[in-house]
Amino acid sequence: MSRILIIEDEDSIADLEKDYLELSDFEVETENDGQRGLSKAIEDDWNLIILDLMLPGIDGFEICKKIREVKNTPIIIVSAKKDDIDKIRGLGLGADDYMTKPFSPSELVARVKAHLSRYERLVQSGIKSNDIVEIRGLKIDKTARRVWVNGEEKQFTTKEFDLLTFLASNPDRVFSKDEIFRNIWDMDSIGDIATVTVHIKKIREKIEVDSSNPQYIETIWGVGYRFRM
Ligand code: CA
Repeated sequence: MSRILIIEDEDSIADLEKDYLELSDFEVETENDGQRGLSKAIEDDWNLIILDLMLPGIDGFEICKKIREVKNTPIIIVSAKKDDIDKIRGLGLGADDYMTKPFSPSELVARVKAHLSRYERLVQSGIKSNDIVEIRGLKIDKTARRVWVNGEEKQFTTKEFDLLTFLASNPDRVFSKDEIFRNIWDMDSIGDIATVTVHIKKIREKIEVDSSNPQYIETIWGVGYRFRM
């Protein structure tokens, strides 16, 4: 549930905003003093802050500036004075939106939702997603080193996984057993191309419905193997 802090000294306005936001399933707290509002904004975790400009103690201009020094939580500034809104826009204090009072509570809720989803997208885009190869019913998570066949997870040894991933990442290309061996095994490892054959057999048993009639790893007679796209 998204948590919203309202810093507003007019209780009737704060209550109205709170009621409407709670109806939209937000968790809301209000604070009517500037200094306490600032402390609360910085010390607790909020998904969004609604900030009035004219407040006792410390005003919204200062609060916005101080929050931005430490957090990038979305901030919507509200004020009865359009001049003040123009002023704070001009100052570039980093607020995300501005609303002139009086405004309709449903308009506020709509803007809150829009800013929350925009922020969510920004945060999401910063997270690197896992590198996944998906071919028909086969799903390989290269980052987590896990494999699923038609939704069922299968266990692979390190070399089996490396070999499967190597072929699946280069579909529709034929590799000789020699090439595969050189790509998957260290130059000085003991073994030969027969090792490749053994591993291919093990992999097929795990990913193919019928390993004598493989749908993923095809044998190209006299050449090697090819992963079918
Ligand atoms: Ca006020």
